[in-house]
Amino acid sequence: MKKELIKIHRSSGMHWVGNGFPVRSVFDYNGLGRELSPFLLLDYAAPHDFPPGGGKRGVGAHPHKGFETVTVAYQGELEHRDSSGGGGKIGAGDVQWMTAGNGILHEEFHSADFTRNGGTLQMVQLWVNLRAEDKSAPAGYQTLLKNDIPEVELPDEAGTTRIIAGQFGDTRGIARTFTPINLWDLKLSTGNTAELPIPEGHTTALLILSGTIEIDDQTTREGDLAQLSRHGESVSLQAIGDSQILVMSGEPIDEPIVGQGPFVMNSTAEIEEAYAEFQSGAFGDPAEL
Ligand code: MN
Repeated sequence: MKKELIKIHRSSGMHWVGNGFPVRSVFDYNGLGRELSPFLLLDYAAPHDFPPGGGKRGVGAHPHKGFETVTVAYQGELEHRDSSGGGGKIGAGDVQWMTAGNGILHEEFHSADFTRNGGTLQMVQLWVNLRAEDKSAPAGYQTLLKNDIPEVELPDEAGTTRIIAGQFGDTRGIARTFTPINLWDLKLSTGNTAELPIPEGHTTALLILSGTIEIDDQTTREGDLAQLSRHGESVSLQAIGDSQILVMSGEPIDEPIVGQGPFVMNSTAEIEEAYAEFQSGAFGDPAEL
């Protein structure tokens, strides 16, 4: 049985995160993110040209607690540092998977080279919730480099998919996740149909990054988020044009979601605690990142 298309969500508008990230808010934990558990929030920075420049472009030290941030770079180069000691550069095709867990401070900037030379930036940041018992996990950081992310050829030369997290057939992604999650970077070529195996019960959503895809005879385009049913064991996609799609699925976490700014916990009391911890310096000293 196939998963059914529930709804196509079209996002519009754009806002700046710091001075480096012109993003569309595709969903967040106060809205659609409540239906898409374990996924809380997705910001999409569509291709944007930055001129050569000086200074720093991005967001300075800020905290997170209670979930994970997954940053997928499609174009451009980003540099990251955090209070768990994590850090590094990610470029086109690379992914960073940061566990905020019990509290982290981090900064997110364009790399110095990318700022100096300018160029096109395209990226996604996805927030993945943690179960209550995992919100106290120590903060951590995984750099997932393009060359280490396995790629699978789809049958009938329909396209390829990179397995960032989870499993596709016998191929396993390289990200360590707390709960079962699939995150795939899928490319389909014009005129092809692909059938993707996605577990029964998984929340399932597709972000169309480029091209045009038909699902259940409905047309989805660049920037659309297609929400599918949890029921069903596969998804059928027809590429009307060459397309790139971020496929996300995961086991829902059936727990209260209370979020404020950079913190997502299970209760208001825990949010107040997170602010108090941050202000007392428990997540680290912004000056010492
Ligand atoms: Mn952040």
